[in-house]
Amino acid sequence: MRITILGEEVLRQKAKPVENIDDDFRAMLDEMYKLMKDTNGIGLAGPQIDDSRRFFIIEVEDGIRRVFINPQIMEMSKETCPYEEGCLSIPGEYEEIIRPEKVKIQALDENGKSFVLEADGILARAVQHENDHLDGILYIDRGDEKFREKIIKKFELRAIRHAEKKAAKEAKAKRIAAKIAAAKQKANS
Ligand SMILES: [Zn+2]
Repeated sequence: MRITILGEEVLRQKAKPVENIDDDFRAMLDEMYKLMKDTNGIGLAGPQIDDSRRFFIIEVEDGIRRVFINPQIMEMSKETCPYEEGCLSIPGEYEEIIRPEKVKIQALDENGKSFVLEADGILARAVQHENDHLDGILYIDRGDEKFREKIIKKFELRAIRHAEKKAAKEAKAKRIAAKIAAAKQKANS
């Protein structure tokens, strides 16, 4: 399991509902939770682990692990507030984003039981940020247009560099393999 990065198609897709909440799904949630904690995240959504289904995990400073499956936002407050957001899929970048202060959300928990949560503060912020991921929306889409363009370009270049490095590595491995094969043939002849 790995975290997908801006530029990957899955982050821009509309995720599909979760159909089976079973032991396999729960085991996957445990792995995802561990990945989130290891990377110091407070929220992680399906598309961020290359799984285009509608679910996310949040754990804010109250230390409660909250799982939201097939969530629906029911209400958002008219009052908005700014908050600096970051995203594990856009590492190293932060931007102040204005969103509704409070939110009411309905979802299924990891046992398939329905619950309603009224959230404010950082929890309300995380809920909206993660829920956006399920619709292929990233926080940079809700901020300054110039910042958004700059970040998209930066990550495009980053992806190209990664691809080039990978190709160079593979070419080198091929050359070495060819040398070894040639040396073996020589030894045999
Ligand atoms: Zn995010």
